[in-house]
Amino acid sequence: MADWTGEKILVLGLGRSGVSAAEYLVQRGANVLLSESSEGDENKRDEAERLKKLGVQVETGGHSEAAMSFANMVVVSPGISPSTDVIQKLEEAGKDLISDVELAFRETKIPFIGITGTNGKSTTCALVSHILTTAGFKAPSCGNFGVPILDELQKNPDYLVVEVSSYQLHYCKQLAPQVGVWLNLTPDHIEWHGNLDRYTEAKQKLFANHQTDKFAVLNEDDPIVCEFRPDAQIFAFSTRSDLDEYSTQCAFMQEGFLMYRIDGRTRVLCHQDDLKIIGKHNLENALAAVSVAAVLNIDTDKIIQGLKTFPGLEHRLEYVASIDGVKYYNDSKGTNPNSTIKALEAFSNQKIVLIAGGKDKHTSLTELVDCVKKHASDVILLGEAKERFNRAFTEANYRNIHLTGSLEEALDLAVTLGRGPVVLSPACASFDMFKDFEERGRVFKNLVRTRSEKMANSR
Ligand code: ADP
Repeated sequence: MADWTGEKILVLGLGRSGVSAAEYLVQRGANVLLSESSEGDENKRDEAERLKKLGVQVETGGHSEAAMSFANMVVVSPGISPSTDVIQKLEEAGKDLISDVELAFRETKIPFIGITGTNGKSTTCALVSHILTTAGFKAPSCGNFGVPILDELQKNPDYLVVEVSSYQLHYCKQLAPQVGVWLNLTPDHIEWHGNLDRYTEAKQKLFANHQTDKFAVLNEDDPIVCEFRPDAQIFAFSTRSDLDEYSTQCAFMQEGFLMYRIDGRTRVLCHQDDLKIIGKHNLENALAAVSVAAVLNIDTDKIIQGLKTFPGLEHRLEYVASIDGVKYYNDSKGTNPNSTIKALEAFSNQKIVLIAGGKDKHTSLTELVDCVKKHASDVILLGEAKERFNRAFTEANYRNIHLTGSLEEALDLAVTLGRGPVVLSPACASFDMFKDFEERGRVFKNLVRTRSEKMANSR
C-alpha cells in the first residue's frame, strides 16, 4: 500500500464509497477534504461529524473554489456524472479523477476479480464469492453492491470479488483485474454517460489494461459482448452447447448440464435443476461464475457444491412460501420491464400470476405485454403506474387484469384466484408506496409468510 502521509486528496460525494475512501485515506496519513454538493439529511450529517472526528475536512452544500484546487488526486463517487460542472472543471484543470475501485486496485496486490454488465452483477459476484468461500478461501463480494471495496481490502482477503458499475469504470485508469467478467450490455444509464457508445466504452475499460497474463470472461450469447475481443486470455461462456467445438476454454450447457472446458479436458458440473436460482438469465450468471472458478483452478467438486448450495440474493426471484400449494416469489428488484420479462421467462413451463406496478418509469411496455400474453394467466396491478399498464394490456387484447389499491389487496386477490406461481415483479420503481425496492420486497414477504402460517394453522 502507498504511503499517503501529507498527501492532499479531494473526495467528491458523501455517499458510501466517498465515506469509505475518505476514512481509508485519512487513516493512512493523507490530508483529506470531502466535498458534497447537497446539504444532506440527518444520516449524512452524522456521517460528516464522524469523519470530522477522524480528521477529514468536510464541506457540504456545494463545492468551494478552495476544494476545486485542493488536490491533484480526486476520488469521485459513482453518482456524479461526467457532464456535471464540477467534473468538467476538475478535468479542465488536469486533475487525476479516479473511483474508489481504481484507488483500491492501485493499493493492493490481492487478486482482483472485476464483474460488470448491465444486469446480473450482484448475483454473479455473490455466486463467485460463494464458490470461492466453499473452496476455503476468504473471498468477499464487494464494490458497487454491499461493502465498499476499500473496507474489504483492509481485511486482507485471498480474493476481492468486485462488482464494478459503469460509473466506477468511467473513473478508472490503470485497473487491470486478474479476471474481468462482462455479462451483457443493454441500453441503460444513458443519461449518466451521454450516449450508448460511451456506456459501452466504460464497460470495456475493465479490460483496457489487460494483457495475455489476465483473463476476460465474456458472454458469447450477448450480441455486443461476443464481438469484443480484448488483449487477454478469453474464457467464453454460453447457454448453448456448441461452444466447446471452437473454443478451448469455455463454460457451456449440454442437455441441461452445466459444463466447462479447460486445459483440453471437459468437466460436467451439475444439472440446471440442481441450482436454487431459476431462469435462463441465472444460468448465464452461473456459467460466468463457473468460468471464474475454472480460471482460478478451483476443484470441480467445490464448484459443484457451491453451485448447488447458492441460495440466490434477496428480492431476485426469491422463493418466499406456499399458500394452498401455490408458490409465491419476491422479485421486487424487478424495477423495469426487462427484469420482469426475465422473471416471466424463468417459469417457462407454467403460467404465472404477475403482481406488477409501482412508480412508473414510463418505459415502453410493448415487449412486456407480449411476454405477459405468453407467460401470465393473470396480472394484478397496483401503484401509480396501474392505469397506464392497464391501458397497454387492454389495447393488446389481454383480458385477465385486476386493479388493486395496495400490496395487501393484491395478495388477497392472488390467494383468491388460487392459480400460480405468484410472482411480485413490479417492472416499476417503488417510491410511490415504499422507501425502496427492499422495503417493498420485505413487506410482500411478511404478508405472504403471515398468510401461509395462518393457512397452515387453520388446517
Ligand atoms: P445487477 O447487480 O447488475 O443489478 P442483479 O444480480 O441484482 O443485477 O439482478 C437484477 C435483475 O436483473 C434481476 O432481478 C433480473 O431481473 C435481471 N438479471 C439478472 N441477471 C441477468 C442476466 N444475466 N441477464 C439479464 N438480466 C439479468
